[in-house]
Amino acid sequence: MIKRLASNDYIIGKKEKMVYNLIRRYKKISRKELLFHTKFKIATLYRIIENLLKQKLIKVSGIAESSKGGRPSELFSINEALNFIVCIVVYREHFTISITDLNGYILKSRYQKITYDMTTETFIDLVYSDYQNMIECLQIDNDEVLGIGMACVGPIDIEKGIVLNTYRFQGKGWINAPLVQMLRNKFDKRVVMENIARGCINGQYWLHYVHKYNTMAYVTIGKGIGAGLISNGLVVRRKTGVVKKGIGHMIVDIDGKKCICGNYGCIETYSTIFAIKDQILSEIKRGRQSSINMDNITIDDINEAYEEGDDVVCRVVYDAANYFATGMVNYINIVDVEILLIGGKLIETCPSFRDLVYKFIHERTTDDINVVFIDNEENSVISGMAMFLLDTYLS
Ligand SMILES: [Zn+2]
Repeated sequence: MIKRLASNDYIIGKKEKMVYNLIRRYKKISRKELLFHTKFKIATLYRIIENLLKQKLIKVSGIAESSKGGRPSELFSINEALNFIVCIVVYREHFTISITDLNGYILKSRYQKITYDMTTETFIDLVYSDYQNMIECLQIDNDEVLGIGMACVGPIDIEKGIVLNTYRFQGKGWINAPLVQMLRNKFDKRVVMENIARGCINGQYWLHYVHKYNTMAYVTIGKGIGAGLISNGLVVRRKTGVVKKGIGHMIVDIDGKKCICGNYGCIETYSTIFAIKDQILSEIKRGRQSSINMDNITIDDINEAYEEGDDVVCRVVYDAANYFATGMVNYINIVDVEILLIGGKLIETCPSFRDLVYKFIHERTTDDINVVFIDNEENSVISGMAMFLLDTYLS
């Protein structure tokens, strides 16, 4: 029977947690490397490893060949199938619920549309029934599930676990919604909450960059704009836990359009999916010729019109990319990170926008800044939320 990381009879000490965390971070690591990183005495480290192996928290996952003809040494990794984590990602028009292992790898995932009549109560019921179906399908016991990591579109209050009042949110009555408490009541499990961008950068960090970079930034652009920052290997958070405005309200044109925040010329007034569609509509209403059908503009329509050289669409996409890239260059100059990741729905679905952003950023930065576009934000958010939840057991 698999022992539970969360069970009361199973408490690991500070040193055990440190070794476990190092093994988790390095994926595969030898005793020699662990000695180097921990500075423990050999006997202490060996005892800890034996203990972790006995408890099935870690496993032997390979043999490292010795370069100097010495004895080959065992490599350890965490036992990723010891426990499982539930991850929920809430966007404006849909949400997903997933089950991951302890490495944040997705084992099963379900997509649900958020309809206009979906209240927070119906959302929680839907999440719970999807959860029950998935653990049954995966043959996982409810007791083996450590808890829930949930990422939501902002603004959110992380400390109170509340979704405040998301702009153009699809569901009904999701204002000051206490989702964390509602999930705790329903599941009787630990719940952590974050915004999408922080979830994503944490996922990217653990999946791809844990050994490479210490400072990273991520910016998501879709129906909204958000940013996450990693400094010294840790996700940066404000003390109050309230994420209200953020990078989307960086002013890139002081004489620009009025924003919902009250200022003028914020990136969000030009570069989100909403802003692009609104601008195209406004140009057509002012009498400019375009092939776009005004009734229901989709990203596919925009891509097609751009390819055909539609004047209105080309100009609006150009401006959107131009203002967004200006904001990104400002951001790079302020935070001075080793790598900037950019992702989200607009990057994933609108190649012309992405290519222009890339071009403008590189034209305006003198240093060799590492800018990487990521393809599947949602999967990274899921993994990142799993890592946040696991952190609560290991700190
Ligand atoms: Zn604003």
